[in-house]
Amino acid sequence: AEASVLEILPEAGSTNDELVRRATGTESGNWPDLSVVATANQTQGRGRLGRSWVSPAGKSLAISVLLRPRTPTGDPLPMDTLGWIPLMAGLAMTRTVRSVVAEGVSLKWPNDVLIGDRKVCGILSELLPDTSGVVIGAGLNLTLDTEELPVDTATSLSIAGASDTDPDRLLSSYLRELDALYTSFLAFSGDAVGCGLQRDVSEACGTLGRSVQVELPSGERLVGTATGIDPDGRLIVDTNAGITTVAAGDVTHLRY
Ligand code: ATP
Repeated sequence: AEASVLEILPEAGSTNDELVRRATGTESGNWPDLSVVATANQTQGRGRLGRSWVSPAGKSLAISVLLRPRTPTGDPLPMDTLGWIPLMAGLAMTRTVRSVVAEGVSLKWPNDVLIGDRKVCGILSELLPDTSGVVIGAGLNLTLDTEELPVDTATSLSIAGASDTDPDRLLSSYLRELDALYTSFLAFSGDAVGCGLQRDVSEACGTLGRSVQVELPSGERLVGTATGIDPDGRLIVDTNAGITTVAAGDVTHLRY
């Protein structure tokens, strides 16, 4: 296999954008699976749906990983398995944050890592323009203080009293966790039940068992109890009107 690329930039607008540019740019050729762009100085971070992401210089870590998922025989994975990719990244980040914060770290379906009920990391996954791969971005709040964050909804590792906020060590921990999860996911051709990913994500996912409000692009709101994650990574919600499932791509906001 081609060696993957790890590029640590002194500064970047958005690491997702940099990775897309580099992964598809003519001068660099096509970057392989598991190539990475990271920076501790992201100046134009994005959230989902064009929302902005606060990342003051030197106080947060932005990591983007290129995935070109294939089965062991080299075929593209079935489209309906791709919903697991952000959840896998969220689980990798949950494990990384748990290595430095002892309590209260959980995954919020589909794309945030929380400490208590506050977001410490957001995950943003985007398809490459030529659809040959997925870019999965993570923005981790390292040392932002309460003045720099919407403090009712957000936190940082330092606010939470983390034992370590070193970007290099956190980066390598995250990449190691993600690589392990991804390798077994591919070995099972994207079967998240078979490789244990569904179980591990469900265990880490603080959303399950909670009352949730799910806002859909139509503006419609679903209210119910989140009871599980289905084999395609959709959230199972038990509402007054019955049991329904929602895909990450169809959720504009999920609130507890
Ligand atoms: P939401 O949290 O708004 O329901 P979401 O979890 O999908 O949606 P994103 O759209 O990925 O979040 O991220 C953007 C939102 O995150 C912004 O609307 C803002 O409220 C919040 N935010 C911005 N910067 C940070 C940060 N550094 N840490 C935590 N939250 C942030």
